[in-house]
Amino acid sequence: MSEEQNLSTKEIENKENNNKYLEYRKSRVKRIKRFLIIALIISILIPNVLCIYLLIRVNSLQNMLDSLSEQLNYIEELKKANLEAMNKADEQKLVEEIEEEEVIVSDEILYPGKKLVYLTFDDGPSKFTDDILDILKQYDVKATFFVLAKEGYDSQYQRMIDEGHVLAIHSYTHQYKTIYESVSAYRTDVTDMKDFLSSRYGYDARFYRFPGGSSNQVSQVDKNELFKVLDDENLCYVDWNVSSQDASAKKLSAESIYQNVIKGVESHNSSVVLMHDAADKSTTVEALSMIIEKLLEDGNVEILPISEGTDFARHVLPSEKE
Ligand code: ZN
Repeated sequence: MSEEQNLSTKEIENKENNNKYLEYRKSRVKRIKRFLIIALIISILIPNVLCIYLLIRVNSLQNMLDSLSEQLNYIEELKKANLEAMNKADEQKLVEEIEEEEVIVSDEILYPGKKLVYLTFDDGPSKFTDDILDILKQYDVKATFFVLAKEGYDSQYQRMIDEGHVLAIHSYTHQYKTIYESVSAYRTDVTDMKDFLSSRYGYDARFYRFPGGSSNQVSQVDKNELFKVLDDENLCYVDWNVSSQDASAKKLSAESIYQNVIKGVESHNSSVVLMHDAADKSTTVEALSMIIEKLLEDGNVEILPISEGTDFARHVLPSEKE
């Protein structure tokens, strides 16, 4: 019995041990299962969370990129607009500069190989102005009139303009002593005459001839001061290199005047011819047709009015000290 008892106690112990072992196994399997499930869940969750996080990140970066590229485009457009504006401004500036810079082409270049003759008449208008204008019209020749301010000659001033001649300033009073007394007296004479032509006939004179020429000995004032006045008034002064000598003390015949002009013209390629449009110069009018006919006979001569492209035949130059 005791042995039997012993056996059964052992069996019971064994059974208990077995049970314990089984329970232990069970709980272990359970733990492993739980661990595996958790590991599975984690292994699924983490990449998903990471994916979502990365997607959000990518999205925000994409937005940032979009906004940056928009800004870049805007900057590029601004740069382009600026460049275009600058180019336009440069172009405009260049055009203005070209316009400002008067390009003067000399008559010598305009009429290559030609002998150039400029017929000029001082001291008009006079009772002979219409005759002179008629002759010029007859030959279709344009001349230059260095006029004074005179009453009662409106139609003559107007004819000179209408018929395409150049009106230029000679003097308002033609009183040498008064004009050359001082710089201010000189300026007054010049501006009075300029105003006379512009206010009465709407004519903007560009050329000027000194009474007595730029080499006159009457002026006590430094010539450079006078040149400056002309500069201020936007006037170019013109002298002459061929004189008809029709203002000589002794009245010349038409033939002498004609000879003087033709001889003078022969020795110059560009001749500024001095003649007078005055009440006592009837022989000048008589000589005029002969002179023009002779000049036109020579097919190589071009009779022109004074322009910016003319060689002004100056006696004294602005830079020269007297
Ligand atoms: Zn004169």
